[in-house]
Amino acid sequence: MAACGSSRVQDLRLAMVAGAQSLSAQGLNRGSSGNIGVRLDASFLVTPSGVPAEELLANAMVEMDFSGAVRGTGRPSSEWRFHRDILLGRPEIGAVVHTHSRYATSLACLQREIPAFHYMIAVAGGDSIRCAPYALFGTQALSDLALQALTGRKACLLGNHGMIALGADLPAALALALEVETLCAQYWSALQIGEPRLLSTEQMREVLEKFKGYGRQTSANI
Ligand SMILES: [Zn+2]
Repeated sequence: MAACGSSRVQDLRLAMVAGAQSLSAQGLNRGSSGNIGVRLDASFLVTPSGVPAEELLANAMVEMDFSGAVRGTGRPSSEWRFHRDILLGRPEIGAVVHTHSRYATSLACLQREIPAFHYMIAVAGGDSIRCAPYALFGTQALSDLALQALTGRKACLLGNHGMIALGADLPAALALALEVETLCAQYWSALQIGEPRLLSTEQMREVLEKFKGYGRQTSANI
């Protein structure tokens, strides 16, 4: 990764503010719920604890190193552990978005994974979006369960809590969060009128293969 010069870090801080506000504007987060983490060279930035998106400022983003120590000042989101652990364990990932969005959270409250009811499930990297078992917010146990549910995937639900979406960079992670919420809303809607017919392993294998051919994906180009 290119060196994180101070203007690039400032750009990332501003992008995090814009990202948090876009999650709020899109209805994916409300108040101060949810958070964003972005990788720097040997550290990462995470949104601060308890600040509503509308009141976030670029300089309020908290820089932490991978041991979990704050560099400078600020109180990081209580979920800094899973941001740290994901960025540490997944070198291809540059940004982590966590939301308590309505449909993803509703399904997470059933501790129900999202099966292959629609081919777009493949945007998360597999033939389902797993749901991690419940663990108390802000704990190492939650982080460990999240990492497990994210194995080979770029998104998961967190039991009785919300969802996590990952990306190579922040725009990709934000786009995936919106896509996962859309899929959860569609699955929820389909469940109102019946049991969705699921795509087979072979059908999903074809989709995953075709997605690889497209390279970097966003919902706009599929
Ligand atoms: Zn949360």
